[in-house]
Amino acid sequence: MKSIRVFCPGTIANVSCGFDVLGLSLAGVGEYMTVTQTPTKGITISEITGQDLPLETAKNVAGVAGLALLEALGSEAGFDIKIEKKIKAGSGIGSSAASSAGAVWAINHLLGNPYTTIELIPFAMEGERLASGVAHADNVAPALLGGFTLVRSTDPLDVVSLPSPRELYATVIHPQIEIKTADSRRILKSSLSLKDAITQWGNVGGLVAGLYREDYELIGRSLQDVVIEPVRSILIPGFDEIKAAALNAGAMGCGISGSGPSVFALSKGADKAHEVAQQLKEVYTPMGIPFDIHISNINEKGVYPA
Ligand code: ADP
Repeated sequence: MKSIRVFCPGTIANVSCGFDVLGLSLAGVGEYMTVTQTPTKGITISEITGQDLPLETAKNVAGVAGLALLEALGSEAGFDIKIEKKIKAGSGIGSSAASSAGAVWAINHLLGNPYTTIELIPFAMEGERLASGVAHADNVAPALLGGFTLVRSTDPLDVVSLPSPRELYATVIHPQIEIKTADSRRILKSSLSLKDAITQWGNVGGLVAGLYREDYELIGRSLQDVVIEPVRSILIPGFDEIKAAALNAGAMGCGISGSGPSVFALSKGADKAHEVAQQLKEVYTPMGIPFDIHISNINEKGVYPA
């Protein structure tokens, strides 16, 4: 029976100013998934290591996303999925998106690539609908395509791949508390002032231009979020201290990763990203907050055979 093991990248959604539209793919953070063709139609999930998550197809994002793909194809094929979870669910580093993206990429591959990678995004979004109640694409788009992505529109879906400056590194700190994406969406306001909207779209434009121009200073100036961060940061212990420490250590910018509680900082170069990590550890250690910390460059490939 045909089988493939893939790396499914973790992702940072929103990237400060780009709530629900921007995301980036991490090279050094992610999970592994083995997908094997079976004689029985449908999807089974036979093993998940590293996390306690549902094996039931309808309750696991990998199963839901994979079935959405098989249904669209009218396929009689069957697949079994084994997941080696390395990112905790509810971390804000795209744990559910990694599984959704990995499942549709691997199944599509085993079926001889009936869809292009970009065409797989809507199926992976069905996994996100299960995880958070909203079929958002800002994690699954960079998980599948790699690099930075812009979700210009979800209806109709219009996703644009953006360039990733080579020296860009992320430091991601994950305090060990769980925030469900569904909960952190619920606290958001449904309207914003024209003044804040102008600031925010100025920054989104600035960030996109900075990526194209490899202008690290412009990227840094644009990593500001006046809409979501002021509301959501209250859910994250020590957020203001973490942000101040990252900027003092020389990070270009710092914000909430996805819906949190992870916080990311972007730096120019691996050395700076390590210095930032050191400073962030020094904030959480005396506060007695347990954490994981990751340092990673940008993954340009999306999901790939591993
Ligand atoms: P994250 O931003 O880390 O993906 P979410 O809150 O969006 O966190 O998603 C986690 C939710 O999705 C949890 O309720 C979890 O039980 C559910 N879930 C179902 N299948 C998976 C999976 N394969 N990987 C991660 N989470 C999953």
